[in-house]
Amino acid sequence: MPQEQSLDPEDWDAFRAEAHAALDQAISHLQHRSDAPVWRQTPLAVREALQESLPLTGTDPEALIARICQDFLPHDIGNTHPRFYGWVHGSGTADAIIPEIFATVMNANLGGRDHVANLVEQQVIQWCREMMEFPGSAGGLVVSGTSMATILAVKSAREKAGGIDLRQSGLTGACQMVGYASVEAHSCIARAFDMSGLGKAALRAIPSDADFRMDIAALEAAIADDLAAGLQPFCLIGTAGSVNVGAIDPLDRLADIAARTGMWFHVDGAFGAMGMLSPAIKPLLAGIERADSLAFDFHKWMHVTYDAGFVLVRQAEDLRHAFSERPAYLAGAERGLAAGNPWLCEYGPELSRGFRALKIWYHMARFGLTRIGEKVADNCAQAQHLAALLRDHQALALLAPVALNIVCFRFDPGSMDDAALDVLNGEIVVALQERGLAAPSTTRIRGKLAIRVNLTNHRTRRTDLDALVADALRIGGEIVQG
Ligand SMILES: *Cc1c(COP(=O)(O)O)cnc(C)c1O
Repeated sequence: MPQEQSLDPEDWDAFRAEAHAALDQAISHLQHRSDAPVWRQTPLAVREALQESLPLTGTDPEALIARICQDFLPHDIGNTHPRFYGWVHGSGTADAIIPEIFATVMNANLGGRDHVANLVEQQVIQWCREMMEFPGSAGGLVVSGTSMATILAVKSAREKAGGIDLRQSGLTGACQMVGYASVEAHSCIARAFDMSGLGKAALRAIPSDADFRMDIAALEAAIADDLAAGLQPFCLIGTAGSVNVGAIDPLDRLADIAARTGMWFHVDGAFGAMGMLSPAIKPLLAGIERADSLAFDFHKWMHVTYDAGFVLVRQAEDLRHAFSERPAYLAGAERGLAAGNPWLCEYGPELSRGFRALKIWYHMARFGLTRIGEKVADNCAQAQHLAALLRDHQALALLAPVALNIVCFRFDPGSMDDAALDVLNGEIVVALQERGLAAPSTTRIRGKLAIRVNLTNHRTRRTDLDALVADALRIGGEIVQG
């Protein structure tokens, strides 16, 4: 090796050919993804090969690319397949390849300074404000996902309520602050309480009603109890699209209660907030625009590739007060590269920040919000289609009302008790996955194990759901027959 040899290609033409070939293989993978099983377990040989010791010398790209194509691509989670329905996964797009390439060559750090990438993120922030109908004072930050967005929101709420400088003093003595979310709320909220030093016990789990929405009377009673005990209710959290069944809390009423009691109103809209893009779904979310903060994902129902989420805060300054640190080596300037203030790093805990904003900006501009909203509405209509199919079969029982895009059901041939049905339905889900036919997940609905179908997949068609019902019935029958 010559002295001072950089890590760039020695032969750019050869590199170009390799990169073009890799791109072709990547595109072919996605083009034909639906011909392959939804999921295949990673074989032992591949697992073992991923336990090699540290590579001290390099490898040819050809060999590495071949390994990615042969060993990695076929053993993905399956969320780019039309029959993937598990958890809440976005399905991505082929177009996303393009901004990812450009983000890589720019290798931008969006912590701060005066360069165009930050302006792209500012554009995304502005679009989020418009999309969720927040006022001009609102701001936010692109983050890894809703879990991180929730931590930022709860920390902002904590600082706002603290009255004293909690960032400096920490939570000294017995913390009096308490918050409220429904029992159906995602676990990331309790974790945000944990990570903000408030403790998970400071988050009250309010019972839900028959439709899995927060019970307002129970909420009012819990607040009254806490006030009587001398505690400080500081944060009320509504869910717009619960992870179990897609339920939407009565957001307008929660906003009223938060306003009346002086609490910060946060909404977890991880996937459900995308309903704002569909004129048919939007009325269900009334009140979301009144939130002090809203957490949502681009990587779920908007189909931006992982990972990409957002925290939108009604008063951008509240977010900045919760995080800004500008020591001498990060001082701003009027001119030159250190201008462009305030820096994005002041709105969150991370200083170095990648160019996630590019793929988000590209996706929104490429497809337009109308089309993305139409896909949201399509999925909701497909969920109703599936629910109707289930009602046609005596051996299939719907376990929760279908509010949005999630259908929970189980195979129940009669004459089996709940414990046996739990085992049976768990086995049906594993069989669907292992045979590569479909990938639903499971959850518990009022104690019963459910086959859970989440539709945040722009590739799914009604015929895929018809096949799912037929497969579940067939496999259920096979297992019962033994
Ligand atoms: C997925 C999800 C989360 C967590 O979001 P991540 O992007 O996975 O961090 C929180 N709340 C709800 C309702 C979700 O569906």
